[in-house]
Amino acid sequence: MDWCCAIFEDLIAAAGQRGMAVVVTSRAAVPLFFLQARAVSAEVEDPRVDTPYPLTLATQQSIGYCPGCGTCLRERYDQQLDALRRDDLVLGS
Ligand SMILES: [Zn+2]
Repeated sequence: MDWCCAIFEDLIAAAGQRGMAVVVTSRAAVPLFFLQARAVSAEVEDPRVDTPYPLTLATQQSIGYCPGCGTCLRERYDQQLDALRRDDLVLGS
């Protein structure tokens, strides 16, 4: 893979793990890149967690540009979407 920068490479590699990551989906009409944060890894996330206050275990925000170098993600990775996509990790799907 020809990465725009090491930060983006690390964020893609971290998909599904605890912490920050980038998750890519192409299920929508246009490819979407999400900056995603997880309190626990996707493997152990348990929706039965019961707390006396609201708790967010994972959240995401659609992004258009690399958070590391500012590259336009759709333009840069348009031909590599099949290798990047992780539809299974997108929240709310
Ligand atoms: Zn970058």
